[in-house]
Amino acid sequence: MKKLSIQVEATVAGSYDVVVCGGGPAGFIAAIAAARSSARTALVEQYGFLGGMATAGIVAPLSVFTYNGKKVIGGIPWEFCERLQEMGGGLIEKPLGNVAFEPELYKLCCQRMVLEAGVDLYMHSYLSGCKCSDGHIEAIFIDNKNGTEALEGRVFIDCTGDADLAWHANVPMQPDEGRPLQPLSTYFVLSGVDTSTPRMQVAMHHNRQGVNCHCEEIRNELLAHREEWGIPEFGGPWFCTTLQPGVVTVNMTRTAADATDNREYTRAECELREQVFRMAAVLREHFEEFRNCYVSAVAVQAGVRETRRILGAHTITGEEYVNAFRYPDSVSRGAHPIDIHVAHGASQNVTFLKTPAFVPYRALYAPDFGNLLVAGRCISADKTAFASLRVQASCMGTGQAAGVAAAMAASTGSAVSGIDISNLVERLIRFGACID
Ligand SMILES: Cc1cc2nc3c(=O)[nH]c(=O)nc-3n(C[C@H](O)[C@H](O)[C@H](O)COP(=O)(O)OP(=O)(O)OC[C@H]3O[C@@H](n4cnc5c(N)ncnc54)[C@H](O)[C@@H]3O)c2cc1C
Repeated sequence: MKKLSIQVEATVAGSYDVVVCGGGPAGFIAAIAAARSSARTALVEQYGFLGGMATAGIVAPLSVFTYNGKKVIGGIPWEFCERLQEMGGGLIEKPLGNVAFEPELYKLCCQRMVLEAGVDLYMHSYLSGCKCSDGHIEAIFIDNKNGTEALEGRVFIDCTGDADLAWHANVPMQPDEGRPLQPLSTYFVLSGVDTSTPRMQVAMHHNRQGVNCHCEEIRNELLAHREEWGIPEFGGPWFCTTLQPGVVTVNMTRTAADATDNREYTRAECELREQVFRMAAVLREHFEEFRNCYVSAVAVQAGVRETRRILGAHTITGEEYVNAFRYPDSVSRGAHPIDIHVAHGASQNVTFLKTPAFVPYRALYAPDFGNLLVAGRCISADKTAFASLRVQASCMGTGQAAGVAAAMAASTGSAVSGIDISNLVERLIRFGACID
């Protein structure tokens, strides 16, 4: 393919102890954790709001903070949930520990917590590259209305979901375990829904342990009439309350694509937008609760379940995960089922965990990259373990661990692999993390 070269001079906009890329569930928690650990911290986000998939993708609920009533993800993530609930924007569903939320208050709540922690926020800033030699990242490049700027840092945390920073730094990625990847789905919001019926009351509160929370009755009808009603491929459907009367989020569209390929991602966005309106029409035409509903919002971007993950110092395997293997450097946990959505067709492979799993610190960094950590969706896990760890509470848990670890490495000048693990664990427990 024809190539052109560009030369860009970037203004250094700031120098930090810790620079976090991506302000989703992993990133905003990582930034708060680093700043509360006394690190001068920057947070870079491409949109004009925080929350990642939770807000840009309207992905609800936040799963899953407890197991059999016992908290498994604590500390700053749990503080966030409680604060969101106090603001009237969150509902902690018991006993499962899923959190339903209102996306606009979610944005406000995490923005407040980030700013209160003293984090410098760079919104509308797209991470476009980095200056990296011999595995050491000196600065990242961000593009925004000021042009191309650079942010220098002692330690960087990649929370972009797609491992964008690690990819720019040439970090090796997990081997391909088979394509297609888990499908993309665009969430949408329906207003004017009769949410008072028993069927909707059950469907929009995800609080039942050990069962899939999709709406079984509607699903069966959709499957039975798929051709007759002209229904494209779908999943679920899952409905979730936004805490407002008559309003639910809907997760049912799907298409297979690799979202790190721009052309595939573009095709998927267009196809999924068509599906949103088709699905809304089907619900309106055939189900009583939806007779007067209308699409009041479509997610800013298609929901991306699976893309790049780094090849870390340790890769969490499915076997370790389902057996709750306890690592000497465990820093977080995961309690969500192994949840693999098939790329084609309406099915989903779900394995419920017998015990909450553990996450080792070594899954958050690559061996030869001394000042880079990752958290959230791009940590080092195989396809099976990842299928549980990808949910938001788990991403927040690894974000918290990465934020504290990055602050420690920045203050001592050691490589991220060289920090004192017992000290890290002690600090995390002081923050309220659940590691036992
Ligand atoms: C359809 C679907 C259904 C799901 N269902 C659930 C569910 O029911 N419960 C649950 O808990 N989880 C669910 N998930 C999973 C969950 O939403 C994500 O895996 C989780 O949000 C990942 O968090 P993250 O912080 O790693 O990444 P993200 O949430 O993707 O956040 C990444 C952030 O980085 C920013 N960013 C990315 N690239 C750049 C760049 N180059 N420059 C600047 N900023 C950048 C993004 O804008 C975003 O804010 C679902 C996901 C999908 C797609």
